[in-house]
Formats: sequence, C-alpha cells, structure tokens
Amino acid sequence: MAEELGAQERLDKIVGQIASNMVAEVCSVYVLRADGVLELYATEGLNPAAVHHAGLKVGHGLVGTIAATAAPLNLDDARSHEAFAYLPETGEESFNSFLGVPILRAGRALGVLVVQNEAKRLYREDEVEALETIAMVIAELIAAGELEGLAQRDGELDLRRSTKLSGTALADGLGLGHVVLHEPRVEVENLFNEDAEAEVRRLHASLGSLRASIDNMLDRGDVPQHGETREVLEAYRMFAHDRGWVRRMEEAVLNGLTAEAAVEKVQSDSRARMMRITDPYLRERLHDLDDLAYRLLRELVGKPFGLLDDDTPDAVVVARSMGAAELLDYDRRKLRGLVLEEGGPTSHVVIVARALGIPVVGEIASAVAQAENGDDIILDGQEGEVYIRPTPDIRDAYTDKIAFRAKQQKQFDELRNEPSESPDGVEVELLMNAGLVVDLPQLDQSGAAGIGLFRTELQFMIASKFPRPGEQEALYVQVLDEAGDKPVTFRTLDVGGDKVLPYLRTVPEENPALGWRAVRLALDRPGLLRSQLRALLKAAAGRTLRLMLPMITEAREISRARAILDHEIELLTGFGHEMPSRILLGAMIEVPSILWQLDEFMELIDFASVGSNDLFQFVMASDRGNSQIADRFDAMSRPFMRVLRTIRRKADQHGKPLTLCGELAGRPLEAMGLIGIGFRSISMSPAAIGPVKSMVRSLDVGKLTNALDPLIDEPSGAQTLREFLNDFAAANRIAY
Ligand code: PEP
Ligand code: MG
Repeated sequence: MAEELGAQERLDKIVGQIASNMVAEVCSVYVLRADGVLELYATEGLNPAAVHHAGLKVGHGLVGTIAATAAPLNLDDARSHEAFAYLPETGEESFNSFLGVPILRAGRALGVLVVQNEAKRLYREDEVEALETIAMVIAELIAAGELEGLAQRDGELDLRRSTKLSGTALADGLGLGHVVLHEPRVEVENLFNEDAEAEVRRLHASLGSLRASIDNMLDRGDVPQHGETREVLEAYRMFAHDRGWVRRMEEAVLNGLTAEAAVEKVQSDSRARMMRITDPYLRERLHDLDDLAYRLLRELVGKPFGLLDDDTPDAVVVARSMGAAELLDYDRRKLRGLVLEEGGPTSHVVIVARALGIPVVGEIASAVAQAENGDDIILDGQEGEVYIRPTPDIRDAYTDKIAFRAKQQKQFDELRNEPSESPDGVEVELLMNAGLVVDLPQLDQSGAAGIGLFRTELQFMIASKFPRPGEQEALYVQVLDEAGDKPVTFRTLDVGGDKVLPYLRTVPEENPALGWRAVRLALDRPGLLRSQLRALLKAAAGRTLRLMLPMITEAREISRARAILDHEIELLTGFGHEMPSRILLGAMIEVPSILWQLDEFMELIDFASVGSNDLFQFVMASDRGNSQIADRFDAMSRPFMRVLRTIRRKADQHGKPLTLCGELAGRPLEAMGLIGIGFRSISMSPAAIGPVKSMVRSLDVGKLTNALDPLIDEPSGAQTLREFLNDFAAANRIAY
C-alpha cells in the first residue's frame, strides 16, 4: 500500500500477493461501475486480456450474487452452484474452488474480491476473514477515487445535474431547503495497528465514553422519564453493552486492525447482514446497532456526536438509514424534511417523524450518492418525490405550493377553537388518532375533541423488550393527564399482522393479516392483556376509562375479554386500588363477519368504532399495504358505503355511540361521504382535523343525505359515488 505505484500496478500487485500468500491459482478484483456492471479490474491467473473487458451485472453469476447479497460465497465446486455463469474470455474453466468476498464500504458493495483453486476445497474460516480484511483495503482504494479512469466505460453520475428521484411517500408535507447529509463520513485513515493490546484498550476506553454519553442523555432533564425517546435510548444502552458486538470488534483488532477499522468492519458486516434481512423489525434493531457503531467511530476519531451543531436553517436531512434517536438529535425547528434510502412506513424513525410533522420520502436507493451537503433540495412527502438541485421552474412551483399550504394552515389554525358544526346545525365530533407521547401536543394544537383511537401497540413496537407494567401505566397516566377533560379511547394491544414485536416469539404465518393477531393473540395469551388492563385501570383511577378491543371476529370474543376485565377489576379492588369512575368497553368493527352479528355485537359493547383500514381490506379482499392495488377499489363505492350505512343504522337502533377511525376519516371528501350516511363522530390524524372541520362548517348535511341515500340504494348506476360527491362539493361551494 505504501509503495509509490499507479493504481493499476498497485491493484495488479495486490492480486499477485494475495494469490501467492493464499496459495491460490487465481485472484481477481471486480469493481462495480455506476451502470451496475462488475468489471474485472485486475487478475492473477485468469486471462490478462480479459482485464477491463470482462464483467458481470450485479445479481448475475457468482460475482454478481456476492455484490447483490453483500455476502461471501465459499464453494468447493463453483460450477455446480446455480448462479454460476461462465465467462469464456477469462479462461476460468479449470478452477473448481471459489471464494469471493464483497468489497464493502459503509455497508455498500463496491466490488468483489475472488480467489480460485483447481483442487476442490472449501476455504477455511481464517482465510475468509483475511480476504475480507484485504477487501477493506481495496474498498479504501476505490473510495479514494484511485481507480477512477481505469474503467472500460465510464458510467459516472453527473453530480451537478438537476435530478428528480422517486421513492415512497412516508410522511406527508413539503420540504424546501438544503441538503444536510446525515453521518458525514468519518474517515478511517489508519487501518492496521502496531500494538493490538493497546488498541483493544483504546476500543474499551471509547466504549466506556460512549456508554457514559448514553447514560448522560438518559439522565439529562430533557429526556422525559417515559415515552419513546427514553425507550430508544434504553435500547441503545443495551446494545452498547452487547457482548457479541464487543467481542467481534476485539477479534478484528486482534487480527491486526485499528480500533476504528475494527468498528467499521463489524459495522459493514452487520449492514451487509441487514440488507439480507426482510423482517422489518429485525432490520430496525440492526439500524440501531448501526447507529451506535457510528457513534463509537466518532468517539474513536475524536468527533463526539451531537448533530445539533449544524447551522443550516432549513435542513433536509438525507440519510441511508436512521435510528429514531438520531432524528431526535436534530433541532426540530431547523428540520424541513427527511430523505431515506431505506426505511418503510413502519420503521421507527418514520413513526416518530410523522408524529413530529416532518415530511419523509423513503426508498430512494441512490439519495446519499447523488446529494451533496448544501445542495438545494425539495421533498414532496405527498407524492414521494425528491428534487435535488431543482430547476428554477420546479423551485417556483414548490415555493407557491408551500405558500399556499401555509396560508391554508393558517386558516385551519384559526378554526381550532371554532365548533365543528355544519350550517344546518349538525355537530360532527372530530377526534384524533395517536399512539406516542410526541403526538400529545397535537391534541391542543389541532383542536381535536379528544383521542378517538390511541394505538397502544406503538409503545410496544418502539421498545426493545416488553414495556414493564409500570412503564405502560406511566404512559397512560401521561396521556390522560394531557388530555384533561377530552376523552381518550385506548385500544388494547393490536399486534400481529404487520405489527410484529421483535421480542414476541410467534410462528411465521403465510397470511399474517389473517393470522394470530390483535384480540386473538390477547385471548390466547391473557397474561399480556391482563397486565395491560391492570396498567390502564390503575392509570385511570378516579376518571373515565374508555377501552376498545381490536379485530373482533365473533361477538363472544367481547364477552371473554370482558370477563378478563372484570376479573382484573375485582383483583385490583381487592388490593385496595382506586378504580376508574366509569369504565366503557368498546370494540372495533373491522372484520366482515361482524356485519352478520351486529345485534349481538351492539348489545355487548358500550361503543363501537369502525376500523375502515382493515374493514375495507377484508371486504374488498385488497391488501391495505399493497400499492399496486391501492387505487383499484374505492371506499366511496356503493358496496362499501352500504356496509358503513348498515353499521351506522344498527348502532343507532341499539343506541350505541359509533366512530370511524380509519384513514378515510381524515380525507375531507370521504369524511363528507361518511357524514352523508350518518356518521357524527370520526377520528383521524391530527393534521386532518383542520381541513375536515373546514369542510363540515360549509356542508349542508341534510341536503347531502337526501341526495346520497337514494343513490346508495340504486341497484344500477355508477359503482362509485366519488364523482357525485365531487360534483356536490363543487356545486355547493364546500371547502375541501
Ligand atoms: C383500522 O384498521 O382502520 C384501524 C384504525 O386500525 P389500524 O390502522 O391500527 O389497523
Ligand atoms: Mg385495524
């Protein structure tokens, strides 16, 4: 490495040395070009004429598979592997054994390093380790740009162009500002240590200060005693003491790396593993570990974390991935948006961003590579689009859009304390959905009449282990305290389906949405439900407790849950605990079977709430998370409107209060449809309260119902009533 050589000669020399040291007949380096081709850059043992003339696409052949999976392949008979693809120009037919490792940097495969032998053998673990370590050195060469210009065809990206990137809309809102790259790279300059023991001591010293800094953050007055920030940090604390992690880093140091190179190697390995994990919750935990490794790296190179020093006043943070704690590190007032290469709608950082009202666009594969610190950037969290270095016309269009939104928002804010009442005197209760402590300030800011759905599972999803009963109770107390006189409906744990708790062992299911979830799981594992009920009962001492059961399929499930509730009340009373002054037990209507048991159902509950997200998916047999069919069926269609109207009529007949708390409720046009068929209470995301209230205050409810009812009954005619609703709104000047 220290020799004064040109890039090609250096690479040639490296492959020659590896081949002789590992007694391999072949050693080759493939480098990933921007166009996704892994080009042969150097070889010892293969046909030299193939260098810069042979290549494979990512995902093709053994080399392409290694790059795609970021995992090594160790084979004693390469040709029998299903991915094997023969490259005739290389003359590799006589080699049987094959060991290839990804050239990883920051978890990304930049190329592949391969050794091959004629004799059939599997390479030893220490050989794999050694090759991986050398691959790190080559990764530095590539990243330092030393190999630039060697490629047969230069497919480099033009970094200065205006670029539009399409991803997934994860949190609504528009953001206009300047790029702040999350994790500006920490450069690891020294890869190899001279004194392994001293280096292990350095590693431990930094681990010590990392742990102390997490403890500090936890002790700091501004981290609340309870709630998700604390839970995320507690998870970090746990990881920081993880023996396996520390041991892997120590091993890497003992193999010759410096402490920072060891951290990076272990981080790369776990990122590579992360890329292969499809379970979003496990990935989430690995993200936390990744974040921690990054913090450790900063400790080691003397740049302690704390991203608050960034003074970009309008930051749009661009990150490969991010832990929820890192987002909380940024100054909320300066943050305009978040762009993630990874991260789905259920990742913690997105849940927290949404609660904080920060727009997010995710699943943009090359965002970090294409953006540079300080670049102009626009993020559209509604369409899932990001413009890096936007052209002036795009910029103008968005400036107008943002100004328009701000004006609208101001109007909505002014409505905050106005009643939600139609001009013809119909009152419509507008409640909000919540689930995190960070949601609570919205109760006041949005002017919601209460919390119509508190998703208690979010506390469980964000934690690394079951929240203790005391922690559950503390959260519920905080929610009730902040809500004051406004009603709160706590939904009991709705886990399972897409809401998986990493620490809850379950059997893999083919159709989790139809599986062991929500109240089914709660009734089978009553211990879990019991402890939650106890926490809720204690938290609501002396006040009203509204409880709601999710995913009721058979009416008798309500009786069973009520029996458990009664038992807990008896137990706690026996121990002298003060009970809530009033306990109301409700249930959600989100499984179609309930539609044929509505009479029994209504008799067993104190109130009902339609979970239209699930009800719609089951009635229409249309997966709520599948974007391919997201727009195929309409909730404002005749069949679904009939379903909703039937529910509403039955609730009225039995004198039971009814709400609807799915996403439908938050869209003004759909909310109008719901009010038209008789709904008088709906629960939505806090941001929707303003727009929906403004609609209500301009709607002649009687007129709408008179027009809508016969249309729903009409046997023929348009499938969806959306057009009718649109026309009605336009003709009657309804604000939506
Ligand atoms: C629903 O299904 O409509 C609902 C409100 O519950 P969740 O979205 O939490 O499943
Ligand atoms: Mg649901």
